[in-house]
Amino acid sequence: MKIIILLGKSGSGKGTQAAFLKEKFNLEYIGSGDLLRERAKKKDFTGKKITEIFNKGGLIPTPIILKLWLDKIEKLRNKKNLKGIIMDGNPRKILEAYLIDEVFEYYGWDKKVQAILIHISDKEATDRLLKRRVCRDCKEIIPFVGEFKKLKKCFKCQGPLVYRSDDTKKSVEKRLAWFKKDVEPIVRHYKKKGVLIKINGDQSIERVTKDILKNL
Ligand SMILES: [Zn+2]
Repeated sequence: MKIIILLGKSGSGKGTQAAFLKEKFNLEYIGSGDLLRERAKKKDFTGKKITEIFNKGGLIPTPIILKLWLDKIEKLRNKKNLKGIIMDGNPRKILEAYLIDEVFEYYGWDKKVQAILIHISDKEATDRLLKRRVCRDCKEIIPFVGEFKKLKKCFKCQGPLVYRSDDTKKSVEKRLAWFKKDVEPIVRHYKKKGVLIKINGDQSIERVTKDILKNL
């Protein structure tokens, strides 16, 4: 049984590593994005409210997310042969880290928790977010990292590559500021507990994966 909490700035390649680890160790994935999208399908008060907050680009309040996590974790608790859980994009602030600690303690899993920080500098994060491209035809995302930087055409379908329009310098700065203010205290929290694994994210996807596996 493993519980992995993945932390990293936008552009750190966290999502890619989460998908890999999920497969590798047969883990259950908990991402609040997925949980919220699923919940929003119910057209009751909370469902509509989640959609409304999403559309405004706002943050869903902690108690609502916590309820969704709890329901999900309770369900997983009853699953036979549960190999573990991977959390991506959570906790979002220190309050949520404390709450998640208590939740895992409640289920008797607190000794299983490991937090992985994929560390990249602000400059690297900015480069990756502003310079990453997407295939116009098959929509494959081409990260601005390693060999991908030099690609002229999509490696899957040979389609033309264009820059993603949703990342602006301003939006990137905003996300980095959020990381500093809300996520860095979480990183320090897990470090103090002695469960933090810090990985150098300024290297190829394969190297990052290797480093994670070496340290887990
Ligand atoms: Zn393509």
